[in-house]
Order: sequence, then C-alpha cells, then structure tokens
Amino acid sequence: MNTDNQPCPRCPDGTATVATVSPSGNIWTVYMCRVCHFSWRSTEPKRRTESALYPEAFRLTAADMAAAPDVPAVPPLRRNP
Ligand SMILES: [Zn+2]
Repeated sequence: MNTDNQPCPRCPDGTATVATVSPSGNIWTVYMCRVCHFSWRSTEPKRRTESALYPEAFRLTAADMAAAPDVPAVPPLRRNP
C-alpha cells in the first residue's frame, strides 16, 4: 500500500492523501486532494495523475475556487423570517 502524500495534479497548492486502497492485492490507491477535493486512482493515465500532464483547461487555482458558484444555486428565501 502506498501511503505517501501526493501533489495534486489539478491545483498548484494541493496535497493529496490516501482515500482508500484496493481491497486485495495492493493493485491501486485512490488519492484525494485536501484543497480542491479532486480524487484519482493511481492506475489512471498520467494525464490524470501528474500535474505536468494534467490538461490546462481543467486546472484550478485558489482564485478559481474562491470565485466558484454554488452548484446547485441556493434559491432566495420564500419569505422573510
Ligand atoms: Zn487539488
């Protein structure tokens, strides 16, 4: 089992920790970023697991995350409390 922390492929400041591992055979490890919550399995292609190869269009910065809209949007109150 690989328990090392990993750099996040999607955000520049993220560090990922092990979320889970394959139930038998030490086949794969799933990591999850503490900052952007991106997760990936260690056996995925390098374009999903290595920051240098991760597509530019899908990367996130701290500013992107701060400006991200709520999904789904929170509707206005039906009446004043
Ligand atoms: Zn991240």
